[in-house]
Amino acid sequence: MKISVIGCGYLGAVHAACMADLGHEVVGVDVDAAKVALLSAGTPPFFEPGLPELLRSAIASGRLSFTTDISAVREATVHFIAVGTPQLAQTAALDLRYVDAAVEGLLPHLRDGDLVVGKSTVPVGTAARLAELVRSAGSGATLAWNPEFLREGFAVKDTLAPDRLVYGLAPGDSVGERLLDSVYASALALGTPKVVADFATAELVKVAANAFLAPKISFINAMAEVAEATGADVTQLADAIGYDARIGRKFLNAGLGFGGGCLPKDIRGFMARAEELGVDQALSFLREVDSINLRRRGRMVDLVTEVVGGDVAGKRIAVLGLAFKPDSDDVRDSPAIDVAVRLAALGADVVATDPEALETSRRRFPDLNYVASVDDAVRGADAVALLTEWKTYRALDPTLVGSAVATRAIVDGRNCLDPVQWRAAGGCTEPSAPLNVL
Ligand code: NAD
Repeated sequence: MKISVIGCGYLGAVHAACMADLGHEVVGVDVDAAKVALLSAGTPPFFEPGLPELLRSAIASGRLSFTTDISAVREATVHFIAVGTPQLAQTAALDLRYVDAAVEGLLPHLRDGDLVVGKSTVPVGTAARLAELVRSAGSGATLAWNPEFLREGFAVKDTLAPDRLVYGLAPGDSVGERLLDSVYASALALGTPKVVADFATAELVKVAANAFLAPKISFINAMAEVAEATGADVTQLADAIGYDARIGRKFLNAGLGFGGGCLPKDIRGFMARAEELGVDQALSFLREVDSINLRRRGRMVDLVTEVVGGDVAGKRIAVLGLAFKPDSDDVRDSPAIDVAVRLAALGADVVATDPEALETSRRRFPDLNYVASVDDAVRGADAVALLTEWKTYRALDPTLVGSAVATRAIVDGRNCLDPVQWRAAGGCTEPSAPLNVL
């Protein structure tokens, strides 16, 4: 199958490389010339485990190329739209200008039998509007919506072996379904469930999944607030309720909450769309989910302030972790960055590090003080704030960290350190809090 992928960011670059790995001929198109140059040289412009190897082998095979020239899509039959849909600056709604521009840019190059496939996360109703745009251009091409569920950090695995495929198709579009079946033949051969739906359902599946997961995280963080007020242990509580198969233990880790380029803006975009549709009451719970989540960041700042004696001004605070989650360099709406920036704004001397997200952080927040290693970050610190649960941070030696800092106080914003081990090594002996002060 000949495929084009429009937009080669976290989603599109992985999708393009994986599709080529599966044997398809793929051209990736992006408006960012620097990104295209890196990708063409086999270097991902972001950190994603497994992607460098996949990219290099797919380029070497001759099946994968990248360009800024949209006319290169002429060779392809299936055209994936993977451009960004960020939150608009002034409202909760999503900015569709990149999706619209990508589809409009494709129109002059489409031929009869081509299929445009939206992967970007969009408000319900977008696919029907774009399908009409494609139809009215008269090429004979059609449109499908195929939402993406990959998780950064697991993006290659999630693309090669997704846990489900959702096709949003116009009524009776069996040609579109067959083309998508050919694209995903290897995933389907693995037994991947396939849901064929109308446009609206396919669009809603994506945001509904996020609107289910985000409350689970905010639920346990709400329990953390109550646990903190009562001296209860929220981790034990999560373990205990997680044994109930109807609840499950996943996504029940109390801590600094969720962030990133998707979950926060997707639930806000969903609320904004519900309001336009006159069903905002149906999603009013998401407003509370969002505010519980954002409260965690403030609580983290308060805890760090408490452990240094009530005022962070002039205190040296080591920040471990900047990415919104481990195994990613993505700092879009990162809770860790938010906390680091707030501490700096309060006058703290923040010294921040991250295994992969230093460059992305520096680009967005040039004024923070970044260092390359944990050793450099913790040296002489008045407090340590662990904000992203990288594996290497979970494995830190409390004695080594303790011997480098000025004051033995670490606030574990991700509940990922063993409190018994850290307290035994001489950490600060504040009572256990859901954001553990060790
Ligand atoms: P991103 O910002 O990393 O990438 C978007 C890319 O599109 C950029 O490289 C940009 O230069 C390019 N672009 C913008 N306009 C273009 C145009 N007209 N033609 C060609 N290229 C253009 O964003 P992302 O994280 O990859 O997300 C893309 C979409 O996928 C979003 O809707 C997002 O919600 C959704 N999504 C993302 C993930 C994820 O984990 N990142 C997971 C599922 C769904």
